[in-house]
Amino acid sequence: MDTLHEPARDIPVAAECDLVVVGGSCTGVFAAIAAARRGLSVCLVEQLNQLGGTATASMVCVWHSLWDTVGRRQVIAGLTSQVMERLATRGAVIEQGRDNPNWQYCFVPAELACELDVMVGEQARIRTFLHARLAAVAVEGRRVQAVVIEDKSGRRAIRARAVVDASGDADVLRRAGVALRRHEVLQPPTTAALVAGLGALRRAAPGFDLTRTLFDPADPQALRHGFVWTAPVPGAGDLELVFGTRVHGADTSDADALTRAEVEGRAQVRRITDLLRRQAAAAGAPPPALAAIPARIGIRETAHADCLHRLTEQEVLHGVRFDDAIANGSYRVDIHAQGGGGLTFRYLDGREVRFDERQQAHLGRWRAPQAVDPTFYQVPYRSLVPRALDNLLVAGRCFDADPGAFGAVRVMVNCNQMGEAAGTAAALALGAGTAMAAVDPAALRRTLAADGALVI
Ligand SMILES: Cc1cc2nc3c(=O)[nH]c(=O)nc-3n(C[C@H](O)[C@H](O)[C@H](O)COP(=O)(O)OP(=O)(O)OC[C@H]3O[C@@H](n4cnc5c(N)ncnc54)[C@H](O)[C@@H]3O)c2cc1C
Repeated sequence: MDTLHEPARDIPVAAECDLVVVGGSCTGVFAAIAAARRGLSVCLVEQLNQLGGTATASMVCVWHSLWDTVGRRQVIAGLTSQVMERLATRGAVIEQGRDNPNWQYCFVPAELACELDVMVGEQARIRTFLHARLAAVAVEGRRVQAVVIEDKSGRRAIRARAVVDASGDADVLRRAGVALRRHEVLQPPTTAALVAGLGALRRAAPGFDLTRTLFDPADPQALRHGFVWTAPVPGAGDLELVFGTRVHGADTSDADALTRAEVEGRAQVRRITDLLRRQAAAAGAPPPALAAIPARIGIRETAHADCLHRLTEQEVLHGVRFDDAIANGSYRVDIHAQGGGGLTFRYLDGREVRFDERQQAHLGRWRAPQAVDPTFYQVPYRSLVPRALDNLLVAGRCFDADPGAFGAVRVMVNCNQMGEAAGTAAALALGAGTAMAAVDPAALRRTLAADGALVI
């Protein structure tokens, strides 16, 4: 490979802190808030202009159930509940179906971004760096000493005693030269589209079928290989978020692949808009409008850290309990097919549902019925502790899991809990002067419970 020599240089130190959190989705924000509440000074680094990550910048506006699979026991609380309560006071969230397994929150992404600014602003110990991209990591032995960011002011360092890598792609580990793991088949990225006028189209054409419109194999204009779902935007009238694109074969932690995926995702959004307009014209409805596209394509999966424990699909589906559990979840295993259409759901009660290319459901079982089913699963702290470094934790979608476990745990209500746990664990590790791996799980769980998390 052709190379260019970059001369060594001294750079200013922008901040010195106890903890630097790289990545400002709710995962990273909750890590920062949890650590600041426990007395740490925190720098929060986010490459985009806003906090919230996929939930805001990629407009993925749905958080799943905080209850177990049968709706009998609440299994998630903490900052996740608090954010939704705060959005509710602004009419920016609707709850759908509390009494059924598809219970979920639909929220306004822009309102979440604003609320996270407020929540972070309430913590005097957090300094936020927006438009700041991680550029390098200074490591001595098994410890990160500092991270280097590139922002409007140039290249600057942040010295920190501990790090939470909430970048989704495990960028801190990667820049520290630590080998990452990639699943053979990655879940594909999707570009959302904020569309106005779908409601009018449905009213004008009562038999309107969105899946057939977008993926009709007989239609040369239609998209190939996909899956579509929509979500309302609370309080925004006829606006709906449409998730109908998929960019197959893209590992978006590769810069060129990310560029191609962004362009391809938007090209698919354009085709969706045109297909909807064609349907509207045929039905005599006003043409649907493409009101907005996200700042960043929605990324489901790239790399995973190699941690003390790799969570498995069997552990998730059998609801295995862990002594060091720091998160509980009830969302099903949900694997979007790569390279084709459809997706597969596996539930804790043994059911399996496969949706084919035409979104027809095929019901089956991954195991025989049994007398008692687990109703939630857990994430152990060890799945956030990379083997390679002593003062760093991962949180969010780059945690250590096999493809099936990842398919369930990847949703935001679970990533949020990982963030809260990582920030809390960093405070305990720094307080005790230990490596992250030596944090006492019982003390961590007690502290999380004292701070409002549901610890089971
Ligand atoms: C289309 C789509 C639909 C989905 N549907 C749902 C759903 O309905 N419900 C649900 O709960 N989950 C859903 N998911 C999954 C869920 O959104 C993600 O798994 C989750 O948001 C991952 O959170 P994260 O914090 O790990 O990563 P991200 O949300 O990707 O956050 C990482 C943050 O780090 C920042 N960052 C990255 N690299 C750097 C760097 N080098 N320097 C500085 N900052 C950096 C990013 O800008 C981002 O803000 C969906 C995902 C997609 C893509």
